[in-house]
Amino acid sequence: MVCASTIFPAANSIPDYAVTRLYQERLVFLCQMYNTVSCKMPYLAKRWPFRYNRLVCFNLQIPYSMNRTILSCCSLLLIAILFITGTLAVAQENRLRDRLRVAFDRYYAGTVAERTMNAEAREIVQMLNTYQADVREMHKNTAQAIWDSRTTGETEAFQRAAAARLASATYHSNAGTYAKIKNLRERATGLDAINARAADRMEKAFARNQLPEDLQKKMVEMSSEIEQIFQTHRPVLDGWEHTNNDLLEMLSAENDCSRRQAIWEALKQVGEAVDEKIVALVKVRNQAARELGFANFWEMQVIFQDYDPAELLNIFNDLDKATLPLFEKMKAQLDSELAQRFGIPADHLMPWHYDNPFFQEAPPSKDVDPNDFYRNKSKEEIVEIAQRYFRRINLPFDKVAERSDMFERPGKDQHAFSIDMDREGDVRNLNNVKPTARWMDTVLHEGGHGVYSLGHDSNLPFNLRVPAHIFTTEGVAMLFGAKAKEPRWLVTYAGASPRDVRRVARALEQQRIREQLIFCRWSLVMLYFEKELYENPDADLKALWWDIAGKYQLLKRPVQPGKELADWASKPHFVIAPVYYHNYQMGELYAAQLRATFGTRDNVLFGRRLQERVFAPAHRMPWQDFVRYSTGRPLSPEFFARELR
Ligand SMILES: [Zn+2]
Repeated sequence: MVCASTIFPAANSIPDYAVTRLYQERLVFLCQMYNTVSCKMPYLAKRWPFRYNRLVCFNLQIPYSMNRTILSCCSLLLIAILFITGTLAVAQENRLRDRLRVAFDRYYAGTVAERTMNAEAREIVQMLNTYQADVREMHKNTAQAIWDSRTTGETEAFQRAAAARLASATYHSNAGTYAKIKNLRERATGLDAINARAADRMEKAFARNQLPEDLQKKMVEMSSEIEQIFQTHRPVLDGWEHTNNDLLEMLSAENDCSRRQAIWEALKQVGEAVDEKIVALVKVRNQAARELGFANFWEMQVIFQDYDPAELLNIFNDLDKATLPLFEKMKAQLDSELAQRFGIPADHLMPWHYDNPFFQEAPPSKDVDPNDFYRNKSKEEIVEIAQRYFRRINLPFDKVAERSDMFERPGKDQHAFSIDMDREGDVRNLNNVKPTARWMDTVLHEGGHGVYSLGHDSNLPFNLRVPAHIFTTEGVAMLFGAKAKEPRWLVTYAGASPRDVRRVARALEQQRIREQLIFCRWSLVMLYFEKELYENPDADLKALWWDIAGKYQLLKRPVQPGKELADWASKPHFVIAPVYYHNYQMGELYAAQLRATFGTRDNVLFGRRLQERVFAPAHRMPWQDFVRYSTGRPLSPEFFARELR
């Protein structure tokens, strides 16, 4: 019997139970076998008889018609054998996965072994009782204030929201309580898995709020100043001030290359106004992180997001390797289209030839506009489509929709979000629905967050009734959002005509692959640049930005090396959402892995599996264990890359 931590590395303390290394290896073998069979079968069925016939006819001189019958029979037999083996492999794999889940369930239910708590463990349980009640109260107040402020835009509600956030931060900044929790946790023995997990989360909530007050104040002031510059800066082009949106529109319509360059440069102007200020902020953030014992702010953020930095980098290194050849191929195709559009050779294309100033989105497809499927619907119908879909897979989106605020209104927040008001069944979405593909995607996306929140096991302690990780809830939301452009879904739920959909199905698929690949390579740029930024803020960041963009996005440096401008600093995320971008890409990886595990059929079984294996566990185990629990394997970029081939 091997130590279970080789199988579930995140749960180091799991005692031995009936899961051996052999068992894990069999699972991996069967998964690979199933994947090979399921990927290759349609290809074989389509191509084999024909190619084989030709080979035999030409080489062996046997009459073609006879050959065709014999070889078709052989092919059918082979396909039947592959099908049966595949089905058996799937059944076996499912059985193994079920056993894995039972093992996890037993461990996280705390029933693996009888435990005797020592005095410290009992004190932790007592502390947790008080803590859960306090946090529940604070959470409800904050959620209500956020909901009120975002739906009404009233100043009083905004002030209430800020005060509620501050109250929670102050509560968790108590250094004495933090030290006590740390001390008790070090000496406690016999604590059951759920309480241990709740205590871990409680300690982390305090750890995050231990920054010295003066540094915290300084960071808020510095980032507010930079945010204000971002908000008020107006790029100047031809001596006139413009808004970013105007320039983006001009860029996508412009066919003259030098004019495009001028617009693109105007979009990056703000970088020169803020780059030194951002570097100063980075240094203060690093100082704060070092006070808490971290090497720098990047490392602190990543660890506070429950990642092991080495593990996160490994995943992104694998992602880089798996997607680079696909990206190269796709970009060559895209470049030849753009070269044709601008009438220049493909190797003369510069960063301003891609409509998005950072090349983080795909230029629109010339063959299909997904908005065509939604243009003639009312905004109410968009919500009804989502309701019909979630009903079909038996997930309670209706319960979310009836409390939600779906349509535009003066004073209301113009974006979209999902909020769990009390972690007891009151979940709401805020949307500003319009009859467009983007809003169909958003309604499904926020609905996905909503049904995830509603599905948490209500027996868990209050502070564990949240998703396993930011990226798991984003992954579920992306899984649903992507349906809005899926050909089969468009016919079944959005009422599109099968003929229209068939005509553009290939273009829809190609555009989705482009979008996924382009965003994925951009997320690599953000991850590696930001890591370097915090590790060495005094480096030549202007040059570094283009080194990294060249490596991952295959973009050309716009000027001679050493003459670069501060293009990097024109991305506001370094200030407003630092060290966060990787979570979006991790969500895409998890969504692809869910599709590979549960299939893409929208039925009651699909909904039930999501509910039982993904939503219910909530935060009761570390995300590494959770991904194995819900999909039977560790998180891997393999499934994401496979969808893009
Ligand atoms: Zn989301």
